[in-house]
Formats: sequence, C-alpha cells, structure tokens
Amino acid sequence: LRANFSVIQKESGFVNGLIAVLHDITEQEKIEMERREFVANVSHELRTPLTTMRSYLEALADGAWKDDEIAPQFLQTTRTETERMIRLVNDLLQLSKMDREDYRLSKEWIDFSIYFNKIIDRFELTKNQNVTFIREIPETPMFVEIDQDKITQVLDNIISNAMKYSPEGGRITYRIKEEDTQIVVSISDEGVGIPSENVNKIFDRFYRVDKARTRRLGGTGLGLAIAKEMVQAHQGDIWAESVEGEGTTVYFSLPYDRMAEDDWS
Ligand code: ADP
Repeated sequence: LRANFSVIQKESGFVNGLIAVLHDITEQEKIEMERREFVANVSHELRTPLTTMRSYLEALADGAWKDDEIAPQFLQTTRTETERMIRLVNDLLQLSKMDREDYRLSKEWIDFSIYFNKIIDRFELTKNQNVTFIREIPETPMFVEIDQDKITQVLDNIISNAMKYSPEGGRITYRIKEEDTQIVVSISDEGVGIPSENVNKIFDRFYRVDKARTRRLGGTGLGLAIAKEMVQAHQGDIWAESVEGEGTTVYFSLPYDRMAEDDWS
C-alpha cells in the first residue's frame, strides 16, 4: 500500500486540510519492479565472473604466464568462470523463451515410471561420487502427457542439486506417488538441508541459501526457477520440504487420470 499526502494551505499560511490518497501498488508496477530487480541481478551475476577473469588475465599479462605452476591454475580459473557464464546465459535464454506468449510444449504420452528409471540410470552410470540411489517407483504403467525435453530438464536440475548437496555416502531416494488426478514425483537427499523459512524461496530466480558456496559449486541460481516454470507449463506444481542438517525433498506433480489407466491395459 502506498500513500500520497497533499496539504491544503491558504495564502495566509494556515493549513486547513489534508488529503490522503491511498492506493495499492498495481500489478503492473509490481511486474515492473520485478523486472528491474531481475536486470540488476543479471548484471551482477555477469559482472562477478567478468571481474574475476579480468584480474587473472591481468596477472597473466603482467608476467604470471611465465610461471609454470601459476599460469595453468589461472587459466583453469578463467575457463571455469567462462563456462559458468555460458551456463548462465543459456539459462537466461531458456527463461526468456518461456516468457514468450507463443511458447508451446510438444507433449506426448509416455509411461512415466519407465521414463523416470531411464533418467535415474543415466545419473547412476555417470556419477563419480559415493551416493546410493534408492528407487521406490511402482512398476505399474502410469501414462502422462508431457514434453519430455522439458521434464528431463526439470529432473536434471533437481537430481544434480541432490547430488551436489549430498554428503559422502549419502542416499538419494526417488519416488512416484500415484493419486487419482495427479502423480507426485519426489527426490530426497540427506544433505545440508535448507532453513525452513527459506525453503520455498529456492524456486525464485537467483535465490541461493549460501551465495558463496553455491557459486563455488558452479550454480547459476536459475535451475529451480526454470524447473518451476516448466512444471507450471504442464499445469503441475513444485515445492520442497527440508530439515537443516538432515536433508531435502523436492516434489513436483503432473496431471494424471488414474481412471483412464484402465484403457491402456
Ligand atoms: P543453483 O544453480 O545455485 O543450484 P538452483 O535454482 O538449482 O540454483 O537452487 C537454488 C538454491 O537452492 C541453491 O543455491 C541451494 O542453496 C538451494 N538448494 C537447491 N537444492 C538443494 C538441495 N537438494 N539441498 C540443499 N540446498 C538446495
């Protein structure tokens, strides 16, 4: 709520009235405010790696390039930062594509449990850390209509976070719960967790619980914001539950018709 005050004053100087106009900040102004904040965030996110790269390149130009020990390290850092900027720009392009009016999903019917298992297999085959995968996925067919590329990206973002924040030897549990009108997919880890007051902010653009640490881990702060837009484009929902020090579960739902299932079998 915003208030504008006008003082009604006579020529003599006496104040004989006060007009107060109260009005809601309109939806339009809110969108405009968010847009400005977003642009400020993007600029900051790009400036940070760029200034880091500039100082490393300056040091190299000033003679560090001759040092066999230091030069490769400095080059590696500038390379890592460049890769993070590319990821960031790709994520931004993805978001801007989804903001367009004519954004369309290319949906097809798939058996979600088979599809989910395939994605988990890919992570299981390529993982290079000590985490155990547990699958609590029903074997019965569960047909949903989804854009596979988009939901694959949602799962990639959630699973890579679960891996990133998992401790040595941690377990990651994959579940699907079949309800009458939706399926609920969940991925649980035994990692650091998220303070309860912030747990729903993790789906906001650029929100990070611990800025320094997640930057080190190479994140862009956009992964879950993209996941949220994609799930919502499917008329689903996404949310998380977390206990600090114990772990995090990220859930998302997709529309489903349990009754229609009879027609498939
Ligand atoms: P990032 O690229 O920084 O990982 P995300 O949008 O994927 O961005 O996640 C936003 C933030 O949410 C992360 O920076 C992290 O602080 C927190 N987060 C996401 N998933 C987890 C998880 N499984 N455990 C703990 N924190 C998480």
